[in-house]
Amino acid sequence: MPPAANDTIAERLFRVNQQIAAAERQYGREPGGVKLLAVSKTRPADEIRAALAAGQRHFGENYLQDALPKIESLHDSPAVWHFIGPIQSNKTRSIAGHFDWVHSVDRLKIAQRLSEQRPDTLPPLNICLQINISGEASKSGLTLNELPAIARQVAALPHLRLRGLMCIPAHSNHLEQQRIPFRALREAQEGLVSQGLDLDTLSMGMSDDMEAAIAEGATWVRIGTAIFGKRG
Ligand SMILES: *Cc1c(COP(=O)(O)O)cnc(C)c1O
Repeated sequence: MPPAANDTIAERLFRVNQQIAAAERQYGREPGGVKLLAVSKTRPADEIRAALAAGQRHFGENYLQDALPKIESLHDSPAVWHFIGPIQSNKTRSIAGHFDWVHSVDRLKIAQRLSEQRPDTLPPLNICLQINISGEASKSGLTLNELPAIARQVAALPHLRLRGLMCIPAHSNHLEQQRIPFRALREAQEGLVSQGLDLDTLSMGMSDDMEAAIAEGATWVRIGTAIFGKRG
């Protein structure tokens, strides 16, 4: 539901955290098992400061040029930065140097570059592989067929830590329909774990399908609109 325009970021964050906790209880999830990634793309640094003051720590950004000045101006804050947008090859060095997580890796070549370019002074970069779970021609992401071989190769890269999978499913307004692609992502992850990969992350669920994602095992929900309001 769109937040009322006069709510503060702190109030919206409080409400989203309450909704996450309620969904954890309803679907038998461990309390605190679902973490909130506040998607701050296109929002100014002052709004991120307001969220930080309200206790939020993890922020998601889609566009490197939009993100870098904010990361710079908040460098002495406890913010943790996640890259969640499409990745061009010529942007990997900057992403590897400025982010703690990348949720949107959809090609082996991008993973190889991120590993090579991750500075030695930083811990391994946390990685999720993006899956085109609804098979939409317009969306990026690996197919489930190509996933197992690529996951094994990414898991072997030295400066990355493969954590799990991410998806952005086709839109639906119905909870039961929303659950279907999220369930497929969880089953794909369980398949990789049964083959010996050590994965703990499912990045799935946005403002309009968060409950369905939590029901199916999300560990990160990526929420923009419900925290910061509609993007212009
Ligand atoms: C914009 C975006 C979100 C947040 O979407 P809302 O509907 O505003 O919550 C989450 N994930 C990705 C990859 C996005 O691009």
